[in-house]
Amino acid sequence: MPLPDQFLAHLSHAPGFQLASFAAVHEVPTPAPVSVRCHPRKGKHLFEGQAAVPWHESGIYLSERPDFTLDPLFHAGAYYVQEASSMSIVQALNAAFGTERELRVLDLCAAPGGKSTLIASWLDGDGLLVANEVIRNRASVLKENLDRWGYANVVVSNNDPRQFAKLEAFFDAIVVDAPCSGSGMFRKDLDTQQHWSLEAVEHCSLRQKRILEDVWPSLREDGILIYSTCSYSEAENEAQIQSFLEAHDAEFVPIQELEAVSGIVRSSLGYRFYPDQIRGEGFFLAMLRKKTPAEPREQKSKLSSKAISGLLADWIAQPNEFSTLESHLGLTLFPQPQFGHVRPLLKHLHILKCGTLLGEQKGTRFLPDHELALSVHLTDEVPGFEVGKEEALHYLKKESLPNRHSLSGTQLLRYQGRALGWGNALPNRINNGLPKSWRIRKELDF
Ligand code: SAM
Repeated sequence: MPLPDQFLAHLSHAPGFQLASFAAVHEVPTPAPVSVRCHPRKGKHLFEGQAAVPWHESGIYLSERPDFTLDPLFHAGAYYVQEASSMSIVQALNAAFGTERELRVLDLCAAPGGKSTLIASWLDGDGLLVANEVIRNRASVLKENLDRWGYANVVVSNNDPRQFAKLEAFFDAIVVDAPCSGSGMFRKDLDTQQHWSLEAVEHCSLRQKRILEDVWPSLREDGILIYSTCSYSEAENEAQIQSFLEAHDAEFVPIQELEAVSGIVRSSLGYRFYPDQIRGEGFFLAMLRKKTPAEPREQKSKLSSKAISGLLADWIAQPNEFSTLESHLGLTLFPQPQFGHVRPLLKHLHILKCGTLLGEQKGTRFLPDHELALSVHLTDEVPGFEVGKEEALHYLKKESLPNRHSLSGTQLLRYQGRALGWGNALPNRINNGLPKSWRIRKELDF
């Protein structure tokens, strides 16, 4: 379908816009590239031989789109299916913080979790990530994706941006991947194209402005705000940043690594990705540094942290690095150095996840939670066994499996060495410990 004239006229003055090639890649059939980002621990050596995304070392283009639902490695959290352009926020994080990782990062508009899983990988267990999503059912999807990603230094919240006001100067970095008019996704999503209008751009621009205003107080002095959209409209991008800079004590921060990539357009106040000029979809990225002095609000009450001990210590690779935390969510594993920051989060936000759920003690037995099965902090010593693809998919459909090796008790099922979940081995079968909501609903044809 040809792009609407009003849309093309609207973009005619956008920085770096090239009408002929842009229109050409939107003509059917020009499939959008398929890309994945591998988990730094679970996804090593996957997709070898395929082309790399130039701006993210774990980003890979696939030559065709497989059925990800039928790949057990996807369910194990070995990779995340993510549009390539949006992987560029890793370059902003690198430019701002180098190798420093003891940071508190907020991903404010986080569902379904593309940027959050990227940030979690980048932190690789250090610091703290708060991944927030305002829409409740989207926040559940976000939680599931972060459970699968397996890090304990992750909190998931379900709040409106203005509810972060009480966490004054709390974060070192905030990512605002703002809801937008979505023109950058036109090639992938015809629906977005049909809903596009100048009014929608204006509406989104006002909403983005409000979101930025709401969250700004929770960034510390010298902290970094990374702003992105998948829109080409200047009102949502450069003009948004310009008016923000006029009203706040902040500065634009260039990202040298992106300037070096051929095809990425450096505009007055950001970086633009056009699908006819790079291998990815439309995207805009800008980074700002806060210059206003801001004191973190003193958070008086403290939670007492408990060391990992007894039976529990047998399940965790490096128990000394963690504490256990008891909250309305149950008993969770949480990184010891971040423990002091948990209290204000639990107090001021609606928290859906706070570290990794450990499980329950039943008499002398410990029944591990599914989150612990997928955790990168689980020890390799837990008893378990390897399954082939067919058995893995039956497990992921929540079927019981035959007990072929005369195993007993709690067992970790692994596919190609990656954990899928727990089973309880009885003499005649292995009962399936996968949570019902995680099961594959698709019919298998074998
Ligand atoms: N960062 C996500 C990722 O990489 O997977 C994509 C985020 S999407 C571009 C924008 C998100 O903002 C959506 O999940 C949407 O529900 C959320 N959103 C919508 N209205 C919002 C608002 N008023 N304040 C904050 N977030 C909002």
